[in-house]
Amino acid sequence: MIEDSSKNRTRLAGPRLAIAAIGLAVAVPAAAQLNIDDWAKQAGEQIVWRQTQLSDTVYLLLPEPGLAGNLAVSAGDDGILIVDDAMIPVAPKIKAAVAKIQEGRIDFVVNSHYHFDHAGGNAAFGADSAIVAHANVRKRLLENRHAGANFSAAPFPSEALPIVTFNESVTLHWNGEAIDVIHFGNPAHTDGDVAIFFRDSNVVHAGDQFPNLSGYPYIDRDVGGSALGLRDNMAQLLEIVDDETKIIPGHGPLATKADLQRYHDYVAETIDHIDKQKSAGKSLEDVRKDGLPEKFAPYGNGPLSPEPVWIGYVWASLDD
Ligand SMILES: [Zn+2]
Repeated sequence: MIEDSSKNRTRLAGPRLAIAAIGLAVAVPAAAQLNIDDWAKQAGEQIVWRQTQLSDTVYLLLPEPGLAGNLAVSAGDDGILIVDDAMIPVAPKIKAAVAKIQEGRIDFVVNSHYHFDHAGGNAAFGADSAIVAHANVRKRLLENRHAGANFSAAPFPSEALPIVTFNESVTLHWNGEAIDVIHFGNPAHTDGDVAIFFRDSNVVHAGDQFPNLSGYPYIDRDVGGSALGLRDNMAQLLEIVDDETKIIPGHGPLATKADLQRYHDYVAETIDHIDKQKSAGKSLEDVRKDGLPEKFAPYGNGPLSPEPVWIGYVWASLDD
């Protein structure tokens, strides 16, 4: 068994870099295109969903190993809502993990953004569940971009597309509380990121705008993502949470406002540093060669955007 699992891990090593490219990091070597469905099948064999109850009705489902995004589940008298659905091969395990919380149909799926490790399971849920997402999620899924440049993928079938879309925010009144699905207005990790705020439970699913303990964030520049937008959106999120809020990051462990504050400051301060260098006339190559000051060394052990890549995202975002 041990041999089998280590073999799987080795097999997944290359694509894991690429999943980081979508979810959290970048700098994927120009490898041959991998089929996302094949990769996800292997990941699905490994993933175990760990459940943590966060309020009377809201639960965290965290994948181990972290080959997919974190899920939130709201279960109660009105029914079941989930935030994100990982990838199709993982869907049976998601359904089993949700059924352990509460039996019955999953009424709503909210996509935090379009990437395949968050919305990739939509086709396994769309026939029974109403999928809710920012308008740009539907747009990007129709463009079949979810797998990113390093994967090939079959186009999404119509039942996998969000049927409820919005441009700013939408509120679901469900299981005794308001569930605000909020787009903070700026392109950030992607052009359709939302945070999902379970108000009475005081729980937020922050999506990949906040990859906790994962170092420099990933900015999906192909769809107009922006490091500055990410910073500004996280400042807005900080204004609506408090010290008791349980924050589910897109990847990584459950977080607090203090964790989010540290992440925001880290993003903001590196942007300021790079902006100053740029304004002083340095070239991108110079700034990359000099590197960021020691105090900005990445923390945490999740997948990273390597430092030169983060510098590049900031540099390009400053020019937007
Ligand atoms: Zn992502």
